[in-house]
Amino acid sequence: MPANQVLRVAINTPLNQLFDYLPPPDCTNLQPGQRVRVPFGRREQIGVIVELDVKSEVPAEKLRMAIELVDTGKLLDDELLRLLEWSANYYQHPPGEVISAALPAGLRKGAPPARAKLYEWFATTAGKSVDLDALDRKASVQAKLLTALIQNERMLEPALRELHANWRKILATLEGKGWVERREHIGRPQPVLADSAPELTGAQREALDAIPATGFTACLLQGVTGSGKTEVYLQLIQAQIARGRQSLVLVPEIGLTPQLVERFRRRIDGEIAVMHSGLTDVQRLNAWLNARDNRARVIIGTRSAIFSPLAQPALIVVDEEHDASYKQQDGFRYSARDLAVWRARQLDIPIVLGSATPAFETLNNALEERYLHLHLPERPGCARQPDTHLIDLRQHSLTEGLSEPLTSAMRRHLDAGGQTLIYLNRRGFAPILLCPACGETQECHRCDARMVLHQKRGLLICHHCGSERRAVDTCDECQHDLVAVGQGTERLENHLQTLFPGYPLVRIDRDTTRKRGELERMLGEIRAKDARILLGTQMLTKGHDFPDVTMVGIVDSDQGLFGTDFRSSERLAQSILQVSGRAGRGDRPGEVWIQTWYPDHPLLSTLLELGYDQFAAEALAERRTAAWPPYSYLALLRAENVAREEVFAFLQKARNQAELLGNAEINILGPASSPMEKRSGRYRAQILIQAGNRAELQRFVAGWRAAVSKLREARRSRWSLDIDPVELF
Ligand code: ADP
Ligand code: ZN
Repeated sequence: MPANQVLRVAINTPLNQLFDYLPPPDCTNLQPGQRVRVPFGRREQIGVIVELDVKSEVPAEKLRMAIELVDTGKLLDDELLRLLEWSANYYQHPPGEVISAALPAGLRKGAPPARAKLYEWFATTAGKSVDLDALDRKASVQAKLLTALIQNERMLEPALRELHANWRKILATLEGKGWVERREHIGRPQPVLADSAPELTGAQREALDAIPATGFTACLLQGVTGSGKTEVYLQLIQAQIARGRQSLVLVPEIGLTPQLVERFRRRIDGEIAVMHSGLTDVQRLNAWLNARDNRARVIIGTRSAIFSPLAQPALIVVDEEHDASYKQQDGFRYSARDLAVWRARQLDIPIVLGSATPAFETLNNALEERYLHLHLPERPGCARQPDTHLIDLRQHSLTEGLSEPLTSAMRRHLDAGGQTLIYLNRRGFAPILLCPACGETQECHRCDARMVLHQKRGLLICHHCGSERRAVDTCDECQHDLVAVGQGTERLENHLQTLFPGYPLVRIDRDTTRKRGELERMLGEIRAKDARILLGTQMLTKGHDFPDVTMVGIVDSDQGLFGTDFRSSERLAQSILQVSGRAGRGDRPGEVWIQTWYPDHPLLSTLLELGYDQFAAEALAERRTAAWPPYSYLALLRAENVAREEVFAFLQKARNQAELLGNAEINILGPASSPMEKRSGRYRAQILIQAGNRAELQRFVAGWRAAVSKLREARRSRWSLDIDPVELF
């Protein structure tokens, strides 16, 4: 081995750099992608070798020696390593953190890459005949766990942990008494392929034929909701499995339901690895290894699954590619959709981006023929797109937020045996608690925001920082009785139950689904038609296929009409069409009723009369004029501090640095206060960078970040840099 060999290692620290080491003693066969144990400060750390044989700028006498190699082979292959490196670079995030985030917890700590056993617990016959009341009096926690195990056939760690933090010890006691046992959890047996492929529609067939099996092609599969996009994915994946190759399927955070996985399991002839944040460490490790070792032929997961190792990658699918959950909003702020396109290009494989309402960036790529544009204009069989009606609120009075046309449409559909879905993207009872005498409202003390009344819990809750306080009945200032103004889902639930007492209702929002398994239970009630009125926020509307919903009511379409973000109208259009798309997916036609104060607003009229493409064409033209993305590239420097002047002092210095580095291509906007200036007790402000092209922005941002992080003021405020931000605050 050459004496001057140096390893460049990624270590999980917030420092935006790699670290140089001399190889550990007596090591041969060093390779990028191997883990090494290294001294770091006064501790030891596990790092990953990113480069070899570099010329170090660290003086030779200061170079430390790595302690030992952890892996004999590569843990990360070159392709994945390159993706991670590129991501760290592009998003200006410390490479060590990026690589660590991509590794299952055990591997991060140096464990061998070996499949681990997963255990499930169950009650024995002896356990099932224990007198639970007696046990409850003596040892209530033991009784609680035993009861849960008797009620459930078997339980895995996450559910047990939720019952009691100290569950391991309690179960050990119960095991000692012979009341419970554990066995290895095998996962589900390979399913019978219960479902066969339907005969494809003409449009599905055309799309399928157009998407090549090999070579990089980015395809936008634009199909109205329920048009059979998933069916196209399934057949593409099946074709790759026949070649012995793997497919990676990304779905939005909320879209990864057991129903979706089940649909794949019933159709896919091969093992499926599921990756999401709710897995236990062992499950995650096993899924990761299955993907890496080509045991899993399909890897289906949320955002972070883009960093799955893939032995034989052949296809990437990004479902509902417009969904905002593909962009991580804190820490390492990557876009999984954008990285998916980059990765497909590196791998030279096809990628399919599917949506009924594509993101404007994606749509623009298709319109400019960088992406292949495929269409599924209709639903298969006799399912039709729903008819849409606007309800002009200037002409109709409201009772508890609902107009007569909306409630009578509900009644018609309910009486005809259909399910109705009522969408209101605001949880809680009422967004405003107002004193009618003096006009005082209940504000959050830590944010520039009102507290939302949650009546059942008797609380006022800030939806921005989570602060809670007891709800009061009378005004602090003048003792007058307070009134709750406006509707949230909790209030609407009460009203709908009074209006339609004979029809069971489920309400799905973050408050009603907090408990594990609750969302699943509710979705089950909907599928079984035990629930007839479905009420909820975004959670209810994303991606679910409810075949018996014949009517959708949008209670308040106006929330996004006058938003401050240049993406507000795009978002609003997407959510209206996505919600509407829940209607009439079965064989009965659907209807959508939308309440609005602005029936003539061009956004609504263009969208509903001429459709998404026309709406998008007009909105894109406006973006071009205003030089917003996709016609420019953005980066956002956000900062916050309990002292307002500190934020601005920092950002002003950051701006000075930007001016030194900038050029004619770079537009520097700000510093300006964020739209909600105070949040969680901190003042927030930002600088927006706008550039005509991506390469220019990248070059600028790299230099700027380095300069900004050296500022003295940078140590006093929290700050972050967001590349291609999707929220401008
Ligand atoms: P999308 O992913 O576009 O929302 P899905 O693939 O979920 O659409 O299809 C919607 C419904 O239509 C599903 O119930 C699916 O089984 C059914 N479907 C899809 N393609 C066909 C087809 N070619 N013939 C009959 N039914 C189909
Ligand atoms: Zn708050």
